[in-house]
Amino acid sequence: MSSFRKNLRRRLLFRPSSVLLGCLLPILISGGLSVPAIILRGPVARIPVRSIRHQETLYIPVAAIARAYGLVLEAEDGRSFLFGSDRLRLRIEAGSREAELNGEKIILDHPVDWRDGTLIVPIYLALVNLPDLAPGEDLPPALAAPARTRIMLDPGHGGLDPGAVGEGLVQEKEIVLEIAQTARDILEADGCRVILTREDDRYLSLRNRARMANRLQVELFVSIHANAAHNQLALGTETFFYAPASSLWSRTVAGWENAVLKLETPAGPDYAGGPGEENSGDKRRRESVRAAAAVQKRLSAAAGTPDRGIKAAEFYVLKHTRMPSILIETGFLSNRLEREYLTDRRHRDAVAEAIARGIRDYLELRPR
Ligand SMILES: [Zn+2]
Repeated sequence: MSSFRKNLRRRLLFRPSSVLLGCLLPILISGGLSVPAIILRGPVARIPVRSIRHQETLYIPVAAIARAYGLVLEAEDGRSFLFGSDRLRLRIEAGSREAELNGEKIILDHPVDWRDGTLIVPIYLALVNLPDLAPGEDLPPALAAPARTRIMLDPGHGGLDPGAVGEGLVQEKEIVLEIAQTARDILEADGCRVILTREDDRYLSLRNRARMANRLQVELFVSIHANAAHNQLALGTETFFYAPASSLWSRTVAGWENAVLKLETPAGPDYAGGPGEENSGDKRRRESVRAAAAVQKRLSAAAGTPDRGIKAAEFYVLKHTRMPSILIETGFLSNRLEREYLTDRRHRDAVAEAIARGIRDYLELRPR
């Protein structure tokens, strides 16, 4: 095989789509002696990673590569680790410079190693062997993966926009990111292709969230939020679809969630064109209602808090996405009980699992 074709093949084969090692990443990023940071741009995510100076070269946690390239740890025996996705298999061995990419042996400049309980790899594995691919890049037909349902999960807020803030400075943006990542992992394991609008604590305009979904033509858009109300006794879960607001309360919630629009100037740095068409088609509306009902059913059962039902509201991201889209309010940070729940990892995981199951329920029953 010519080196050009080999190279091409390697590039194409690096188009995975599932995910993993989620919970490790924050720990990995925060620790260690940090030197230059890089942005790992995989097909699944863009991950900022601090490199670690080790053995006179630079390393990064393999978890960051897994996250960016959508790799799942498929097998390990404490020394040898096999990561895989539908297009990529990466085998590495602690203490060894030999690795295997899709069956081809590669020699790393330094051995894979452990550092503070974290498996790290030479940074050049990411910089040299893994191509720089943007999410949503299309594959040539011959190599296209079997169609997998593409879902976008949108953790609300981020960066300078904390969303709802509860007592003790509990921030909506952090809670919903974690719920979205867990739900993503579950759906990916289930065979869906899931794209998050944000992977970390960054500001992302509502316009760009909707534009991402439209550009990637996902089949379902799910925005994940936590609620707040002046009435501290208000509690429970609710799920919205787009329609002219059905009640004063729906209008109020949409007003809060859209408030960040004030920060978004049309000429802002991340603005590049108008919003998508309004999500007002009858079919999309019907599908959105079905998705909202399926998710809300699972969510209220798992959360064990009052079921506030499904509602219509004019959320920006619902209005401007072109596919069925819903917005989930996972609980009230203004309510003491629900704030305690949502700051408890087990409860968040249960909420994430319920969201993933609700989405599966919707997908299984939708007309083709
Ligand atoms: Zn929110």
